[in-house]
Amino acid sequence: MGLVVQKFGGTSVGDTNRIKNVALKVKKEIDAGNQVVVVVSAMAGVTNQLVQYCQEISENYSLEEYDVVVSTGEQVTIGLLAMALQALGVPAQSWTGWQIPFVTDNSASKARINQIEVEGLQACLKAGKVPVVAGFQGINAQGRITTLGRGGSDTSAVALAAVLKADRCDIYTDVDGVYTTDPRFVKNARKLDRVTYEEMLEMASLGAKVLQTRSVELAMKYQVNLRVVSSFENNPVGTTICDERDIVEKEIISGITCCRDEAKITLVGVQDKPGVSAAVFNAMAQANICIDMIVQSDSPDGSHTDMTFTLPEADLSRALSILDKDKEHIGYRAIISDSDCAKISLIGVGMRTHTGIAQRMFKALSEKGINVQTISTSEIKISVLIAAEYAELAVRALHNAFHLEKKEN
Ligand code: ASP
Ligand code: MG
Repeated sequence: MGLVVQKFGGTSVGDTNRIKNVALKVKKEIDAGNQVVVVVSAMAGVTNQLVQYCQEISENYSLEEYDVVVSTGEQVTIGLLAMALQALGVPAQSWTGWQIPFVTDNSASKARINQIEVEGLQACLKAGKVPVVAGFQGINAQGRITTLGRGGSDTSAVALAAVLKADRCDIYTDVDGVYTTDPRFVKNARKLDRVTYEEMLEMASLGAKVLQTRSVELAMKYQVNLRVVSSFENNPVGTTICDERDIVEKEIISGITCCRDEAKITLVGVQDKPGVSAAVFNAMAQANICIDMIVQSDSPDGSHTDMTFTLPEADLSRALSILDKDKEHIGYRAIISDSDCAKISLIGVGMRTHTGIAQRMFKALSEKGINVQTISTSEIKISVLIAAEYAELAVRALHNAFHLEKKEN
């Protein structure tokens, strides 16, 4: 008998019929002889609606109270799913995040899990009941409700699978797996049977929305046997996210992501002397703004140069006003910003051992007349910043250049 954590996302529990369908999938796993712990999200659209209520009350709502509001969506689905299971003759019991509890830190709206107490859940399993757990929710050391950030129920599920040492953690969603790129833009995008934790981590943080980034981090750390599967198929195969050594036929490139929520700032005429970068990025860090790509070159005459960096579009106006206030202190001539840009990234563990990947990437982009504004790399990815209007063209060109399309049978 194995232990399986099944997580169902918002669209999978989008209405009561779908919740009944989920109950059948849980029963199927039990009939196969496994013990099951279920984790659910709120019904599709519910969390967005709750966020909107908060915004309607005040522009400056308290994040602590936001957590109280947005965590309610999941409480509805655990109760409904427990009922649906009971209706099928499967004993089940709902669990909120604080009944378990998932103990988190204090960062309201994006809390991190510190500890999960599993005695209650284990007793529930032992009594022959299926625990139906609310994802996304936690409780801090002061006993206040917290949430784990949007998409956080993936993280709840993986964390539970890790502490329970589950044999499998299946993430049921509305797509049938992880694709080489977004199939809405590239018709012949291919579903990956397997992808490494590292690649998935890059993909999640670079804009593929299948899994919350933090959940992949946890899966990698605790070697959770993770799968993304469709809840609308009968015998889904999905995509397995695993260690590199568990993949026999490795791909050089596994995926291409596109992130449009990027903005770029250029400080023109900054002094070429020690302390300038520190001043700029210290100001950004103080404001909790995540900087991504940074480009600066030597000044030809050793006196002044330009510095360009990228950041989330949502933080652009805040960053500009901070830099404006600090103009004297940092010392620059002018500031230019652009939010019409997109970051396209090529991801694959094969980059470690293959040469010529960057060359092929730039050639494919240049053949389409796409100008590369900024480049950044890591061991397993190359990202370029381009004008947003070329985003889809670039993704398609790269998908072709690296032959990522579906293989004909
Ligand atoms: N319901 C939450 C959200 O929409 C958490 C989740 O779905 O993972 O972000
Ligand atoms: Mg999700």
